Amino acid sequence: MAIQRTFSIIKPDATKRNLTGAIVAKFEEAGLRIVASKRIHLTLAQAQQFYGVHKDRPFFGELCEFMISEPIVVQVLEGEDAIAKNREVMGATNPADAAPGTIRKEFALSIGENSVHGSDAPETAAEEIAFFFSGLELVG
Ligand code: UDP
Repeated sequence: MAIQRTFSIIKPDATKRNLTGAIVAKFEEAGLRIVASKRIHLTLAQAQQFYGVHKDRPFFGELCEFMISEPIVVQVLEGEDAIAKNREVMGATNPADAAPGTIRKEFALSIGENSVHGSDAPETAAEEIAFFFSGLELVG
């Protein structure tokens, strides 16, 4: 498997509880390199656009409100098989189902307030990276 890049968000529940460093440590321990990183505060329109794929789901409104409730940290992670590796480090969407040692098992509060986002495929990774970062901000 080649070197890949994936997109990550450290979500409001985690930035609020000062868990940014602890989460970055999990990425780095797994061999993922942070090649871009910034702390931002989304607007409602930006959150709705980012999560547009979920616009018909019952949790869409609550999810967007949560994502604008506090600043987030958006990052690009690089490494061998980075998309799958990041999903593994994140753990299952619902922390109750997440494996021991994963970010969501250790830090998530609920299925909604689950500390991290990570791209699920090469196409979404490319789209999500381009939504938040310019090429000049990616420093491998
Ligand atoms: N989510 C939620 N309720 C649900 C399912 C998902 O609030 O029943 C939120 C949760 O924050 C999740 C995000 O919507 O991370 C995107 O859902 P997805 O199924 O894509 O999960 P992920 O890829 O983040 O594991």
